[in-house]
Amino acid sequence: MEQKTAVQATNQFDGYPQQPHGGKLVDRVLRGKEREEAMERAKQLPMIMVDLEAVITLEMIATGVLSPNEGFMNEEDYKSVLYNGRLKNGVIWPVPLSFAPIGNRNKEVVASLNVGDEVALADETKEPVAILKIEDLFAYNKEERASQLFGTTDRSHPGVDSIFRRMGDVALGGPISLLRRVDWGPFEKIRLEPKDTWRIFYEEKKFRSVGGFITGANPLHRGHEYIHKNALETIDGLLIQPLVEMAKREYTRNEFRMLAYRSVLETYYPKDLTTLAPLRVTYIFAGPRETVLHALIMKNFGCTHALIGRDHAGVGDFYDKYASHSIFDEFTPEELGIDVRLYHEVFYCTRCSNHATEKTCFHDDRFRLRISGTGIREMLRHGIMPPKEIVRPESSRIAMQGIQPKGIDENQESISPVGKTVKSMFPFYLEATRLGGTYRREKLTPEELTVRDLESAAMDARLNADRIYNDIYEEYTYVGDTDRDMQRQWISEARDAMRRQQQMVVEDLEEKVKQAPESASDEFLYQDRQESQRELDVARNILQDIPPALHPEDLKERVWNPLPYKRYRGDDNE
Ligand SMILES: [Zn+2]
Repeated sequence: MEQKTAVQATNQFDGYPQQPHGGKLVDRVLRGKEREEAMERAKQLPMIMVDLEAVITLEMIATGVLSPNEGFMNEEDYKSVLYNGRLKNGVIWPVPLSFAPIGNRNKEVVASLNVGDEVALADETKEPVAILKIEDLFAYNKEERASQLFGTTDRSHPGVDSIFRRMGDVALGGPISLLRRVDWGPFEKIRLEPKDTWRIFYEEKKFRSVGGFITGANPLHRGHEYIHKNALETIDGLLIQPLVEMAKREYTRNEFRMLAYRSVLETYYPKDLTTLAPLRVTYIFAGPRETVLHALIMKNFGCTHALIGRDHAGVGDFYDKYASHSIFDEFTPEELGIDVRLYHEVFYCTRCSNHATEKTCFHDDRFRLRISGTGIREMLRHGIMPPKEIVRPESSRIAMQGIQPKGIDENQESISPVGKTVKSMFPFYLEATRLGGTYRREKLTPEELTVRDLESAAMDARLNADRIYNDIYEEYTYVGDTDRDMQRQWISEARDAMRRQQQMVVEDLEEKVKQAPESASDEFLYQDRQESQRELDVARNILQDIPPALHPEDLKERVWNPLPYKRYRGDDNE
């Protein structure tokens, strides 16, 4: 993949339907002789050790993923981004790219550096990864960064925690040059850089539009698919980029998540229009600002459209449910340079018999199967494949192999309480007696639910999710079909039999009323006339309530034509 095409200078993007953010696709990867010379030079330079997150950021910058940034930000850009979400020159950029090394040895090196110096950045092998040309050195305030970027200095926020864990007191700004790329392990063979995707989309496939989709912790579910397929109705191509870095312990392992994607894609997606490539991005958990970053990353991969779901890049309850949507109100589409498509929460409606959002379905929670990423992972841990309307079996079967932890603990518990899982996936269960059923006299609370409830709700969904609409359809066809060979003869026979039997009950009771005395001598064994009459009235009403069986001869009256048939075919001669 490395040498397929080097990015040509200037006008490569002329005639493409998209341009890189800031107008230029950054390429800071050194090659050939230039690289060899730089590698020799790097070995003589002062050296700063960096962690994996920094190594990934370096690679992102060098390959253009974060264009127009050519390195780590100087103080002016850094502050401008932190306070205004823009670079100093006004170009939208939502998150700071800053480099403030920690550790005593690094601190000593930093103290010896001046503007204009070069410094080598090395990973844990102590081999240089990149060279940074220092243009700025400035004091770095962690609280300021956390509160501006995440709106909180609470260390339970993973992004805030990461700042305090990873960042030192002095930041270095300046352009970088990449000496070597890190190996992506199991994803190496399917990784794509921006230079590859631009070529694939616009040289090979000749697309006029591409929708990008960046996705986090969950195996591919039907909510994702709904968004993808909706987009593909009007957009030429689709780029799906599952994040494969910085996952939490209790997620599905990245390799399995990718395999789950691949198995659904090969079965249900148009091959020529869909591109799947893993994405290593370090800046996760940034909440709404991260969503903007993702949109710009998609743009740098050549996408014309950014497909954003509800709670994209959500972090627990730190932000409003649709905060990742409303942040786009701050920018005009022109300055973003990518068409952002925001989707509401997707669910499955068993009454509509399709996936929908609040915008397109008004049926209530009793009919809904909700799609919750956390809920899906919990079900996988409980060893239950989620309903096919929530996750395709091609996805969940593989995802279950990669879920961590697998199975439940000695108290039958998983990561979150089972009641929460039931509520997040099967909202009907708390308020209705069954999927699509009548309301419970007393609502259940999540706290009282056990694994048995999860099983019951999941079983109800398995058996009945596609039955509700089917039942309704059958009711309609029973009355509607005039071709009775299409109908279930046994239903007609059952209805006729019920009617006959009830007719028998009525006749018997009519006889009984005639013979009943005005007043009975024994209130247990003999009834008076008034009571017998009441039984008869009820029996007659039941007879009325039995739905009629329809027979072909009853339906003849529905069919007539004022003109001979051939006149309808256009023959006007008698
Ligand atoms: Zn509906």
